[in-house]
Amino acid sequence: MKIVLLGPPGSGKGTQAQLLANRDGWTWFSTGDILRHELKRDSERARSVRGHVETGGLVPDEIILELARDFLAGHRDGNIVFDGFPRTPGQAAGLDLLLGGRLDWAVFIELTEAQVIERLTGRWVCGRCGETFNTAVHPPREQGICDRCRDKLVLRLDDAPDVIKARFALYRQLRDQLYDYYARQSIVRTVDGTGSIEDIHARITAVWGSS
Ligand code: AMP
Repeated sequence: MKIVLLGPPGSGKGTQAQLLANRDGWTWFSTGDILRHELKRDSERARSVRGHVETGGLVPDEIILELARDFLAGHRDGNIVFDGFPRTPGQAAGLDLLLGGRLDWAVFIELTEAQVIERLTGRWVCGRCGETFNTAVHPPREQGICDRCRDKLVLRLDDAPDVIKARFALYRQLRDQLYDYYARQSIVRTVDGTGSIEDIHARITAVWGSS
């Protein structure tokens, strides 16, 4: 099965994709993580994406589709969860072309802007392994320290309040276009993004469990 998880920044797409990967053995493809990893290097790609990522803007479709092509060249089989990709109708069409057909499900995790701001201002990420924590819903056992690798937790640069607002506005602008794209393929489902990580996981897996 191939699914895409969509939702505003902070809706828990990454956490839910990670759960599918760790618990159920899915392959997890996150353009955001790949880009953040890339930014730690001084590559030509890093130079061309840095401005977009740090200001909450979108990286051009060509670069994103190049990442997807490279990834799919090595991971075609089995269950794949796409997290934070596609983000534009152009990327959605590009992904269908790369897959040679459509996805099984496009699942939208729904949250309001106020809920997003509340969540993201409490988000901390491990500088080494990338594990994400949230002071409200998933706090680390020891403040400021990663449970998994014991490295220091840091705030994401693009989680500054003005950048969050820009990212949410951009999401709203493109959300309906993506919704329509996948609605035409009859593969859209929406799930409530409030509640615990387990609650949301159960709502997501119910999408194919009940089909
Ligand atoms: P995320 O971790 O998915 O919120 O992504 C962090 C940032 O990376 C976004 O705010 C964008 O600047 C960039 N990004 C990630 N995925 C994409 C994508 N599919 N298309 C364009 N930009 C992306």
